[in-house]
Amino acid sequence: MTTTIIGYPRIGSHRELKFAVQKYFKQEITAEELAQTAAELRRQNWQTISAAGITQLTSNDFSYYDTTLDTATLLNIVPKRYKALNLSPLDEYFAQARGYQGEHGDVTALSMKKWFNTNYHYLVPEFDADTDVKVVGTKIFDEYQEAKKQGYQTRPVLLGPYTLLQLGAYEADTKPADFTQAVVAAYDSIFTTLAELGADWLQLDEPALVKDQTEADLELFTDLYKPLLANKHGLKILAQTYFGDVRDSYDLLTALDFDGLGLDFVEGDETLDLVKTKGFPADKTLFAGVINGKNIWKANYDKKLALIHQIPANAIVLTTSCSLLHVPYTIENEEKLAPKYKQYLAFAKEKLTELTDLDHVLNGDDAALKANQALFATPRYEENQAIIDQVAALKEADFHREPSFDERAAIQKAEFNLPELPTTTIGSFPQTREVRRNRAKYKRGEITKAQYDQFNRDQIKACVEFQEKIGLDVLVHGEYERNDMVEYFGEKLDGFLFTQNAWVQSYGTRCVKPPIIWGDVSRNAPITVAESVYAQSLTDKPMKGMLTGPVTILNWSFPREDISKKETTLQIALAIQAEVLDLEKNGIKIIQIDEAALREKLPLRKSDWYSRYLDWAIPAFRLVGSKVQPTTQIHTHMCYSEFGDIIDAIDDMDADVISFEASRADLTLLDTLQQDHFKTHVGPGVYDIHSPRIPSESEVAGTIHKILKKVPLNNVWINPDCGLKTRGTTETTASLENVVAATKQVRQEL
Ligand code: GLN
Ligand code: ZN
Repeated sequence: MTTTIIGYPRIGSHRELKFAVQKYFKQEITAEELAQTAAELRRQNWQTISAAGITQLTSNDFSYYDTTLDTATLLNIVPKRYKALNLSPLDEYFAQARGYQGEHGDVTALSMKKWFNTNYHYLVPEFDADTDVKVVGTKIFDEYQEAKKQGYQTRPVLLGPYTLLQLGAYEADTKPADFTQAVVAAYDSIFTTLAELGADWLQLDEPALVKDQTEADLELFTDLYKPLLANKHGLKILAQTYFGDVRDSYDLLTALDFDGLGLDFVEGDETLDLVKTKGFPADKTLFAGVINGKNIWKANYDKKLALIHQIPANAIVLTTSCSLLHVPYTIENEEKLAPKYKQYLAFAKEKLTELTDLDHVLNGDDAALKANQALFATPRYEENQAIIDQVAALKEADFHREPSFDERAAIQKAEFNLPELPTTTIGSFPQTREVRRNRAKYKRGEITKAQYDQFNRDQIKACVEFQEKIGLDVLVHGEYERNDMVEYFGEKLDGFLFTQNAWVQSYGTRCVKPPIIWGDVSRNAPITVAESVYAQSLTDKPMKGMLTGPVTILNWSFPREDISKKETTLQIALAIQAEVLDLEKNGIKIIQIDEAALREKLPLRKSDWYSRYLDWAIPAFRLVGSKVQPTTQIHTHMCYSEFGDIIDAIDDMDADVISFEASRADLTLLDTLQQDHFKTHVGPGVYDIHSPRIPSESEVAGTIHKILKKVPLNNVWINPDCGLKTRGTTETTASLENVVAATKQVRQEL
């Protein structure tokens, strides 16, 4: 058996690429210097992968920013507005990635979307009537040759034509099928060139196949691949899928003349069944994704071997379930993490060893197996029996709040006596340099806890004074004590581990460092009560308590796998519920529980949305707020307004108020709210906080009027569309003043 991977992280084990690209943006280094850093990172990657014993290496999985953008650029799928800037190829590439403002013109970036069910984001290829698909780039050829010069015969990786067309955005009445012929011709010419250069395999990534496929989808796939596979120019073609199984296209994939099929045996629930019941063609190689490319846990070799033994294929290549892009580089960079934890972790580099270990075991050398068995024979951690019992004892009634929404709404109206169109914010205020410096000093031990807290208290005081001065109705404390809405809670709860360098690329130069859920989650002390109570003491207006919801905490962490996500989420929900009740007990009457990341982990197949996710995620949220008094108002917040398709589930969260991003989506969600008689009161963001632009008073007033055309006056709240943490103080002050002034103006017109 041989071993390979689908792709490797490219940001650098200490984020070298991120820093180099940012320096290039600031013109601190030249394009040549950037290219050198990139080449060095590629060299290190190939060396690491080869040294680990992986037999088939990949190339072109590297990217300055995003491989989907690389593919579009290679194929001349570059909208006119970028070409018109007349920039160098590299700068045109970055202009698409992040917009351009300068001597050559002013354009915004291509739109960016989440890459399937991951936290990675890709740039959306844009097709229009002018798009002339043809090979104009050389990156894939260059990187193949670069590796070859270093002695590695690699398998170039490229986004497949089908997924490319499926991910595209289509302007000016164009549609994917309009581009079939040109795309086939372009890929055919890539086959030709790669074959001439000496490549033997080409990997075409087709993750779009794991989503629900219609007849028309499969037809498009056939129209692309039938002609392409009719002449492969001597190249072997691997159709690589990941993030799920290919139940809709398995028959088609096995019937077409691919040389290899890459299947995901980790996230693909039906993959094993498919190959067992339908069989696997004797003349194809099965690239079996058995090592999890997304988690950070060491694999249990016995289980993996049992799986591999069931795969009925003549030729198997062992690989990961998806690109290792989604995991950090190596646990070698974690100096502070105790060995008792580390021994259970496997990041990208360690996963390479897992693949070769499995290969060795299959070849009769079971030294690695023995060590792995010994590890899994001992219990990983001490369980928190109290929490386990608490979750087990949950009853249906614990997930429902009494009295009903309508009764609560009436009670709360009397309780708070807020004006029509109450104004508020989403929670955080600008994290200025001073705020970040204070935290850094405290972390480095340069100031005491008391000094750190006092600084934050002063910030809270100024923030409350500001909100009172401009006349907001429901205030917040500003979240100065939080660096990140998940890490902050993770650090205060039992059961989480934190890393120093376990960065994962989120998009372009942005990386995240998710905490690891290690054990049973519990709360041993109040988390936010002191700040909220202090802030409330400064004002007679209601102060919103501010918490992160259990689903978001789970989704932005690396979850456990020895228990279900549902189980972990319920543990977190109970911890946050205790915090809610403590806030209530201490006089906080409005509590916001953010579920910024609820939507993003929807399963890829619609048929799984409820049964696999929403059926436990929504109740977990309800559990958090189910025990409060009718007078206590529960708010929630979601970052994206793209939840028209799960609107019932959102209403079913049974929050009293929900705020969400709406300004960029042109308030289209409001139509859905109107049609579906959405009961929850709503605060559709009246301006876009992702931009430093200040909305004028009349602009905000116009937006409020638009909202009032669709949503009953009594149900509407007025707020920005997300937290203000990343904004500057000047624009925040001006924007919020305009929001309050506009609201007052509209109130008078009512
Ligand atoms: N309360 C959080 C804040 O204001 C919400 C952030 C978010 O939705 N991403 O920062
Ligand atoms: Zn948000």
